[in-house]
Amino acid sequence: MMQIMVPKSRITAIHVRFVVVAPQTTWAFVQLRTDGGVTGLGECSAAGSDATISDMVEAAARSLRHTLLDREAQSALSDLRRRWTPDRTWSVVLNAVELALDDAVCRLEGIPLHATIAPAVRTRVPLYANINRAARPRTPDAFAALARRACDEGYRGIKLAPFDGPIPVGRAPVHHGLELLRAVRSVVDPGTILMVDVHDRLTFEEVVRILPDLERLDVRWLEDAVPIAEPERLVDLARRTSIPLVGGETAGSVEEVRPALECGALAVLMPDVKVAGLRGAAAMARAAIAAGSAASLHNPTGPVGTLASVHLASALPTFTVLEYAYGEVAWRSRLTRPEESVEDASLGLPAGPGLGVDLVDGPA
Ligand SMILES: [Mg+2]
Repeated sequence: MMQIMVPKSRITAIHVRFVVVAPQTTWAFVQLRTDGGVTGLGECSAAGSDATISDMVEAAARSLRHTLLDREAQSALSDLRRRWTPDRTWSVVLNAVELALDDAVCRLEGIPLHATIAPAVRTRVPLYANINRAARPRTPDAFAALARRACDEGYRGIKLAPFDGPIPVGRAPVHHGLELLRAVRSVVDPGTILMVDVHDRLTFEEVVRILPDLERLDVRWLEDAVPIAEPERLVDLARRTSIPLVGGETAGSVEEVRPALECGALAVLMPDVKVAGLRGAAAMARAAIAAGSAASLHNPTGPVGTLASVHLASALPTFTVLEYAYGEVAWRSRLTRPEESVEDASLGLPAGPGLGVDLVDGPA
């Protein structure tokens, strides 16, 4: 955190609020309160089970309660990171607590969150629609309907993970997945960027075999087709196709993504602010840009994580497009005040300090 003078303010409570969105989606928001009345928000959705997240947020709260913003609280947080063995859920929960701390300190100072990274170079961030979580059931018609709606609302990029389960009985995942992609391509506007997340579900040979189909469908984003920790495979795949290769959502540090960036085969790096923390994701995005790759951000999450990503994206020297979990629930925008307002498939920076929003009570 930057060196700033803040009025003395002690943390009084940190807790997690779960918002059930869909059978496969629950958002987890970390809410921090201080004796001065200033609050802070973080998000650790999809970090683990609700019970595990609750236990970990409570453990963090025990250590940070009564600490002063912000140096004392940051030092307690650093102790927590050192004390526990590396664990993905723990790390994502602590990143959410850190985001809530940053949000609270920025509110005290009256500065926007992105100012802790760099001044904003853009005030709106373009989005693509990830329709994968909203398609229920996972049929060609359901995907096509969502894709068409997203197109009508102005989205120019549409992503799905067509090889995810459940796969209809008797069908091969590759055939079912290609059927979903063909259904989407048949209804979207010409020029729509079709984006495919393989989720590491296919073998290298299967990916290679379907490359001609993907190219015929004009797919222009191929995510997690091979693990980015295997640069030789990335290079091998990149030699076989013109489709840009994308990855990086599970990486926690620049060191983890360096081999993929140095091999030159990763067209787009997409770190996640929940997984790497705001500053970790910023460092990775900058490393990608310096290596000649493009920067995006992984963000299939709720409005708090999305807004943290918008702040980061606004402060990067170059940025491609931010993931947006499209169409899961109609009340999403009303969960924050001011409301999340997607316009022309982009999100703007709110005017207020910190993240710039509060969570409202209800509707979930
Ligand atoms: Mg992905």
